[in-house]
Amino acid sequence: MISSFHPPQRTLLGPGPSDVSPRVLAAMARPTIGHLDPEFIRMMDETRVLIQRTFRTTNELTLPISAPGSAGMEACFSNLIEAGDTVVVCINGVFGNRMVENVERMGATAVKVEDEWGTPIDPDKLRTALGQHPETKIVAMVHAETSTGVRSDVEALAAIAREHDCLTIVDAVTSFGGIELDVDGWGLDAVYSGSQKCLSCAPGLSPVTFGPRAVEVIKNRTTKSQSWFLDLNLVMGYWGDGSGGGRSYHHTAPINSLYGLHESLVILHEEGLDNAITRHYRNHLALRTGLEAIGLSLLVDEQYRLPQLNTVVIPDGADDALIRRRLLEDHNVEIGAGLGALGGKVWRVGLMGHGSNPTNVYRCLGCLEGLLGESGSVAAARASYD
Ligand SMILES: *Cc1c(COP(=O)(O)O)cnc(C)c1O
Repeated sequence: MISSFHPPQRTLLGPGPSDVSPRVLAAMARPTIGHLDPEFIRMMDETRVLIQRTFRTTNELTLPISAPGSAGMEACFSNLIEAGDTVVVCINGVFGNRMVENVERMGATAVKVEDEWGTPIDPDKLRTALGQHPETKIVAMVHAETSTGVRSDVEALAAIAREHDCLTIVDAVTSFGGIELDVDGWGLDAVYSGSQKCLSCAPGLSPVTFGPRAVEVIKNRTTKSQSWFLDLNLVMGYWGDGSGGGRSYHHTAPINSLYGLHESLVILHEEGLDNAITRHYRNHLALRTGLEAIGLSLLVDEQYRLPQLNTVVIPDGADDALIRRRLLEDHNVEIGAGLGALGGKVWRVGLMGHGSNPTNVYRCLGCLEGLLGESGSVAAARASYD
């Protein structure tokens, strides 16, 4: 007989999902109410304020899309692009390539600006591409490339885009709540994120924000967005555009998931966004110190490293798949494998959100050093905290 599912207790130290905070799980177990219930709407209004704070924006059109980060991506592209547009896409990993897929499926032309996996996007290459393609409407870029552990300088790239009168679409799925992200300060136009990385919320929601220039483009489309579900002109009717108008039915919001998102944002802002960012950095430094103490190195140059996603070069002679299996089966620790060209070459160790803490740093190092026949990483990490 098939009976209730009880998952094992894992420690999630991969590229996402990250460990979900017990407070978030408890919030999600609260009673379901109607999605037009005044109490639910009150919670949604608070959620919007908390998302705005996390993006550092005053954009009215700020909401969680009822689907994972990939849908937030699609919401940005499908609302801003019309067939025939030209979009410059900066690519230095998996998620840049997905952006190209979006652009091409919408009948637009993607101009690719490519950099090596493991390195950031080169602003000079973007400048050159925009010089060669004055017809460009949008520049798309990934802030934190989870496939490689690289942070690109979105502030500088967005400034170049603006000099050329282009809108920006920015993937902030892994940067949201983990590293500095300043939507208004950097002048970003359309930004999407996700619930399951540095927010430590369950997967399945994508906070997004659209600035005034993007809203103009959306309102003045000459063709309908090809996605009914993600059409912000319709979604705005439910979430409201901040003008205080009534709410109408668009789709049934994932009520309990949104309780979880609200709670995860409350937790983040109780700690303080700046404190959370500092915590991610401190735990990253401890992990790195421990790894280096046993001869392991990180793939990415120090200045571009993501503290929340560490790409560790697999040492010669280590059996990638076996070590990941032992971590999972013997220690209940999940880390990520390398993707694409980095498959078999790196491990991806996520220290995201609730999971970015000293206990997890020690656990990860202790397990790895045992499996590699090394010692000393835990003591080195501990010393780094002092
Ligand atoms: C995880 C991730 C996504 C996709 O988010 P899903 O919730 O898996 O759909 C997009 N971009 C980046 C950079 C990510 O890390």
